[in-house]
Amino acid sequence: MKVIDLRSDTVTHPTTAMRQAIFEAEVGDDVYGEDPTVNRLEEMAAQRMGKDAGLLITSGTQGNIIAVLAHCKHGDEIVVGDEAHMFWYEVGGAAALGGVNIRTVPNDSSGRLNPDDIVRAIRDRDIHYPPTTLLCLENTHNRCGGMVLDVDYTNQVCDLAHARGLDVHLDGARIFNAAIALGVPVLVLVERAESVSFCLSKGLGAPVGSVICGSKPFIERARKFRKMLGGGMRQAGIIAAAGIVALETMVDRLAEDHANARRLAEGLAGIEGIRLAQESVPTNIVMFVVSPGVSGAEFIEGLKEVGVKLGFRNGGPFRAVTHYMVSSADIDEVLARIEAVYKELRQRAQR
Ligand SMILES: *Cc1c(COP(=O)(O)O)cnc(C)c1O
Repeated sequence: MKVIDLRSDTVTHPTTAMRQAIFEAEVGDDVYGEDPTVNRLEEMAAQRMGKDAGLLITSGTQGNIIAVLAHCKHGDEIVVGDEAHMFWYEVGGAAALGGVNIRTVPNDSSGRLNPDDIVRAIRDRDIHYPPTTLLCLENTHNRCGGMVLDVDYTNQVCDLAHARGLDVHLDGARIFNAAIALGVPVLVLVERAESVSFCLSKGLGAPVGSVICGSKPFIERARKFRKMLGGGMRQAGIIAAAGIVALETMVDRLAEDHANARRLAEGLAGIEGIRLAQESVPTNIVMFVVSPGVSGAEFIEGLKEVGVKLGFRNGGPFRAVTHYMVSSADIDEVLARIEAVYKELRQRAQR
């Protein structure tokens, strides 16, 4: 039985081309700036993002904490969506390591922050207040089911932040999924943000790594903070080599993952008792809930027994994330297995 793992696109293994590139990678000591493969990846990433410079970092989480450290001073306040990855899943790093106050404003179901809420959250100058210095956006939005912020919205919110003296950091862990879904070059989507980070290790299939991009002085500060956080790596060309292949070969094909996610969503919506937990499925994340009476933990356990792995946190929706190791035939197989397990549990609940 083939195990089909839809917990996340982070479970993807490096492609054959990546393994070959890793094998052949020219390397040096990157802390001395001497790894040619890292330097090539950083230039390539910066160019894709339309920024002056890039920096290979260990993870998306490290990118976001570096952004906070490099944009803010101790005691500053940042504005973040209340469903943001930075707020939920980064161990409170901005506060713990940056000494930065996190002020949340509500995310709507499409991952947006209401501009009026942002304005209200930005502090005036007052002796009592911490200065608000950074706005963080997330695209695509993880907890909002891979929803996409479009170019107009992103520009509008960046302008609003800039007019009030804030910088903008874009958590673009899956920014290429957003660009592909919108059919725009990624640089148009990140143009007005001072910094953007993206993951090589998710849908792009690389084994490790993210890149953060911004101006030269920003990346200089970021490089110093990366060292402070223990992220200065030596022959990191081993990692960068796969990242280059990821950028060259794995971006355009994300459209297939999006089509598979839609196929999965349509199939799920057709199963009685299962309901999608999002209005649309623009990228590679599908969230859904099952009718009450069926225990989430039992459903997940039953699926595991038939070789289907889904994401689930108690009380939350189920999550399926498509990626290059899952084909459209696999999606049909997943639907059949989900339907069988779900029916069985439901009948048991009704007995
Ligand atoms: C996955 C993710 C991150 C963190 O990336 P890691 O490489 O897992 O640390 C940050 N932001 C968003 C929106 C993500 O989806």
